[in-house]
Amino acid sequence: MTDTVSIPLAKRRDAILAELAQAASPPPCLVAVSKTQHDEKIDAILAAGQRVFGENRVQEAQAHWTERRRQYPDLELRLIGPLQTNKADDAVALFDVIETVDREKLARALAKAIAKVGRTPRIFIQVNTGEEPQKAGVTPDGLEALLKVAVEECGLDVQGLMCIPPVDEPAGPHFALLAKLARRQGLRGLSMGMSGDYTLAAQFGATHVRIGTALFGAR
Ligand SMILES: *Cc1c(COP(=O)(O)O)cnc(C)c1O
Repeated sequence: MTDTVSIPLAKRRDAILAELAQAASPPPCLVAVSKTQHDEKIDAILAAGQRVFGENRVQEAQAHWTERRRQYPDLELRLIGPLQTNKADDAVALFDVIETVDREKLARALAKAIAKVGRTPRIFIQVNTGEEPQKAGVTPDGLEALLKVAVEECGLDVQGLMCIPPVDEPAGPHFALLAKLARRQGLRGLSMGMSGDYTLAAQFGATHVRIGTALFGAR
């Protein structure tokens, strides 16, 4: 039987990994964005060896991963979508990394959830590098104050920064800004780059690229 699902997916994954290896040394970690994907594709990419996944909704992530986590104890699950404070407990219980902390209230809710649930996800701060009014993320100017609260007051394990550049602008300056902000704050993690610009992000020092469409096909 021709395997129409897993072969193309595994090949696409190999091709992306090769491009990332060409673009930067060491290459960034490939975060497979599995939101809205069907079970057969998720299982195929797991079979190909992928273990790091990004999801942007807590409930959908629970559906995708609660069972699979038992089967694949080496999974790393990353929340890349906005988080409401009333879902902090669920997010802390499921995710290994929460990339979208962008306000003090959420930092405090996560600190409470961590104490209650007894897991300690690593944290990235989402920065609204384009200062778009409708977009999540702390402004570049607000980053330092938020970090102070998140680290010193809340004790969160902040490891990096994340951004989603404006769709209608070249991404390079936004990647450069995020890298500069991280350097200034002594943070090593840089989650930036999606299907359209992951090699560029790698060249700007991304440690994690979040790829959905280019890996799984159109959603
Ligand atoms: C959906 C999503 C991605 C992946 O987008 P593609 O363009 O499909 O690669 C990356 N980051 C975030 C925050 C997303 O919501």
